[in-house]
Amino acid sequence: MKTFCGRANPTTGAMEWLEEDENYDYHQEIARSRYADMLHDKDRNVKYYQGIRAAVNRVKERGEKAIVLDIGTGTGLLSMMAASAGADFCYAIEVFKPMANAAVKIVEKNGFRDKIKVINKHSTEVTVGPDGDMQCRANILVTELFDTELIGEGALPTYEHAHKYLVQEGCEAVPHRATVYVQLVESKRMWSWNKLFPVHVEAEDGEKIIVSPSEMEDCPGVPSVCDIQLNQMPSSDFTVLSDVVTMFSVDFSKPVRSASTSYRVQLEPVKSGKAQVVLSWWDIDMDPSGMINCTMAPYWVKSTSAFQWRDHWMQCVYFLPNEEPVLQGEKVYLTACRDEYSLWYKLQKARGEEENKAAVHVESPVCRCQAHLLWNRPRFGQLNDQNRTCQYMKSLMKVLRTDSVCLCISDGSLLPVLAHYLGAKQVYMLLFFFLKFFKANNLEDKIKIIEARPELLTSSHLEDKKISILVGEPFFTTSLLPWHNLYFWYARTAVTSHLTSNVTVLPQSASLHMMIVEFQDLWRIRSPCGTCEGFDVQTMDDMIKDSLNFRESKEAEPHPLWEYPCKSLSDPQEVLTFDFRKTVPEYSLSTEGSVNLLRKGKSHGAVLWMEYHLTADISVNTGLMQISNEKGNCEWNPHCKQAVYFFSSVIESETLLDLPSAVTYAINFNTKTGEIAMDFKL
Ligand code: SAH
Repeated sequence: MKTFCGRANPTTGAMEWLEEDENYDYHQEIARSRYADMLHDKDRNVKYYQGIRAAVNRVKERGEKAIVLDIGTGTGLLSMMAASAGADFCYAIEVFKPMANAAVKIVEKNGFRDKIKVINKHSTEVTVGPDGDMQCRANILVTELFDTELIGEGALPTYEHAHKYLVQEGCEAVPHRATVYVQLVESKRMWSWNKLFPVHVEAEDGEKIIVSPSEMEDCPGVPSVCDIQLNQMPSSDFTVLSDVVTMFSVDFSKPVRSASTSYRVQLEPVKSGKAQVVLSWWDIDMDPSGMINCTMAPYWVKSTSAFQWRDHWMQCVYFLPNEEPVLQGEKVYLTACRDEYSLWYKLQKARGEEENKAAVHVESPVCRCQAHLLWNRPRFGQLNDQNRTCQYMKSLMKVLRTDSVCLCISDGSLLPVLAHYLGAKQVYMLLFFFLKFFKANNLEDKIKIIEARPELLTSSHLEDKKISILVGEPFFTTSLLPWHNLYFWYARTAVTSHLTSNVTVLPQSASLHMMIVEFQDLWRIRSPCGTCEGFDVQTMDDMIKDSLNFRESKEAEPHPLWEYPCKSLSDPQEVLTFDFRKTVPEYSLSTEGSVNLLRKGKSHGAVLWMEYHLTADISVNTGLMQISNEKGNCEWNPHCKQAVYFFSSVIESETLLDLPSAVTYAINFNTKTGEIAMDFKL
């Protein structure tokens, strides 16, 4: 059987439906899954085990048989914990077939075949009765169905159904309770992921300010959660305006309601400022006493000794619909609204009691300004990066002439506006943008949007003019890996016949850079686990390995490295260059070489990123900003994802002497597909 998978083609910028082997989807899912990360999450595993033991004991003490329902068993881990703790029988439910198959194997290998029944169904399809999947209702409910937002993976409807049909009244639940915490902050950095700040342009005829449409000012944005490794956010990047408060809790041992609802708390600001963002995280109590607690609290809330790195659960950033000035000591109300799968927040001033009571219901956020649909959060951050904008302005000023005819190829870019203010005679832009933005800046008739793909551009679109300056950031929303933005080069090639013979292309070139790193933690997501709390989970390791090797050549994966500390083991090295002044060549671009290891450490993988050379002396770097100390700690561009290629085996060197002196590499840019393949030897 074949399946079709949607993927952006980096040579056309368009989505294509590719026929793939039926196993493709599942290998992708397994290879990129968070199972390994969960199995490495010692804190989570230990606490689940403690909670499960305590629950089994409580049931046994009542003289009852312990019948466990484990919804979303994955590897079967929690069921095996329950069986080891003395449970009489476990029903292990798993909807994802490859995982259910793996669970069967793992359960057998660990000798629990008689105690655990793996059922490959969604929990809402499970039947109870003499001929059913389960003989009887369970009296212990064990699950791990949570995402960073707690409810985003459908925990609430699953619990609601389980209490109605699959477990006994008064059952034990592990976890017993979840609690969501919030803290109100002011943060220019985080706010810059959600609103476009005015852009100042020093033009010859005075300062121009690019503003966002008024609709954007109070647009509630998109409902998708912004989940980040908040522990990587330095305290200097935000100001705390309130204490940490409990927003709401869910008791999983009682019937759960998943229907939309809202919760409200009163906050007394500890500081005056602009309330912009609600930071949020949760904890789970594994038992009713609250003694076994697993928390996602960030560094400034919990002691560092309790710290466990994890990527499957992070912290949430919620943007208020608009910034709200608050005064120290002057009470405000924070409302959390939720539907079955997501949460959103609103802040209200404490006026009359009645007025506030009436105003609790808040609509689910829908972007009204279009900007939040066009720009994702890192993209907002990028556009608000005044340093970056400066580089583009400086380089534009170098190349623009009063008779310049400029064509811009980049998604949702401000470059055409900059080019216009900096004096281009005529500016055209290809690809999409939103008109409201031009209206707000009175530019509707100044910048012409051409609704055609580059290969379909005609002279009439350009009113028979030739392009003297072709510009791009380049940035395209369909890009996953850094080099996918080389689509600019393909587009440039497609419009060649419309360019003047001495056209200026900005950026004039790009380069691919590479460095060998040791990750502080990110290695866990791709590292085999072996045994987990005494259970043999190697079957899972093998499965992940298989999926990673499914394609002949392993692929690099995108990660925003500002969230994932690493240290450099080699110097950064330029490995390929792409000359945008020429068209894309017919042949592939490849390079081979070696890179010296300069520091001791574990070579987990290579990081790759792009640099764009706007002019001969002005560049924009999307990767390594600097190596900040002699230990090799790296600082990364905070608005871009870099490509990470994990080595299949890790080389560890205790001393510089036993270091392999170099890592050899072969990197190939296939100009036909726009993809980069790579191979490393340690
Ligand atoms: N319990 C394992 C795995 C947790 S990951 C552990 O703690 O290590 C959650 C798993 O639940 C995923 O494999 C997902 O496919 C499955 N799942 C989520 N909702 C489910 C449902 N309602 N019914 C059955 N499986 C579900």
